[in-house]
Amino acid sequence: MLYRKMPKNGDELSILGFGAMRLPTKEDGSIDEKTATDMVRYSIDNGVNYVDTAWPYHMGESEPFLARALAHGYREKVKLATKQPQWIVKKPEDMDKFLNAQLEKLNTDHIDYYLIHSLVSSSWENIRDLGVLEFLDRAKADGRIINAGFSYHGTPEDFAPIVDAYNWDFCQIQYNFLDTNVQAGKAGLEYAASKGLGVIIMEPLRGGNLADPVPQEVMDIWNAAEKKRSPVEWALRWVWNHPEVTVVLSGMSAPAHVEENLRIADEGLPESLSEKELQLVERVAEKYGKMMPINCTGCRYCMPCPEDVDIPACFDTYNNLHMFGDEDRLKMMYAAKLGGILRGAGTNFASQCVQCGQCLDACPQNIPIPAMLEKVAEEFEGPDLQERMAFAKKLFSDDSC
Ligand code: SF4
Ligand code: SF4
Repeated sequence: MLYRKMPKNGDELSILGFGAMRLPTKEDGSIDEKTATDMVRYSIDNGVNYVDTAWPYHMGESEPFLARALAHGYREKVKLATKQPQWIVKKPEDMDKFLNAQLEKLNTDHIDYYLIHSLVSSSWENIRDLGVLEFLDRAKADGRIINAGFSYHGTPEDFAPIVDAYNWDFCQIQYNFLDTNVQAGKAGLEYAASKGLGVIIMEPLRGGNLADPVPQEVMDIWNAAEKKRSPVEWALRWVWNHPEVTVVLSGMSAPAHVEENLRIADEGLPESLSEKELQLVERVAEKYGKMMPINCTGCRYCMPCPEDVDIPACFDTYNNLHMFGDEDRLKMMYAAKLGGILRGAGTNFASQCVQCGQCLDACPQNIPIPAMLEKVAEEFEGPDLQERMAFAKKLFSDDSC
């Protein structure tokens, strides 16, 4: 295992972090406790020392599971990260209530790395106005949390103001070789690192999409490499190639994933891929780009829409569905994210488009935006949308956890 230093405190963190959001499950959907515990402990025995969870993972069961998995001395061997469910914080006192509940659920007296979960511009403004920065100061001072950070799913332009708003120790962003210009993106990664923040990477395999199944035309490019690597190895090595990255989280859901990731992590040095290898990854990214049914680059020149439709997010979700499948998860995320449940704001659905045409001239890709939004709405907003929103509300609610 290789380790990288957290810039502000010098913690030597394993470059592979264990993400406890896609643990192995049984037929009824509950966590397969025996397999999952073995995986967590095996990872730690082999050098992993960063474990990440959050309030809603596995319907609220990930945190108590980790308390049990990290018993018998394993808790002391890791830095434990969990996240404030900001979307259900309604008043300042709720922040203490959730943190104290999390300490209890995790059976620990402190959280090493505490993040405000899943920020976008609107949820950031909301939680900031409720006093989250004062709360973080207090929780750090009384020792309930050691390091304060945030995870981010907003637009590229809204990222830097959040970085600049507080003396954060770290942040967590989505980053992989397809997502260099969405959310925080490459610019955000470099900005956060330049400000001294450690950067934890989530979704290095795009929710597993870059791992399996890989389209034959993409495999043909990978197979042309002089040094043969699996798609997972290419994707992880590409992220670790960035010196600004501290830890890469992997949501491992089978013992074989742990074995493979541990092996790959032994070689994840910064700037260790050659120019030729980086060009190969670029060619794969271009191939995936050509396979997208809507040629949206996520540039956001079309925004803001006067009706609040989140055009690039609608197209991104539609493209993912058509490139990778994973229908149930994507439809749930469409309902949760664009339905305002995770953003703490109103809805941004494709069907809200009134065809005013304002966005058309702004799009450098000449996408017929209103027509394509109709396709998105057809695919994602059938009669079961309300049911999905109700389920998402329950999934991300206070009560379910
Ligand atoms: S055409 Fe639709 S998506 Fe475009 S700006 Fe108007 S309402 Fe928004
Ligand atoms: S301007 Fe066009 S390419 Fe850019 S985000 Fe909007 S739809 Fe996508």
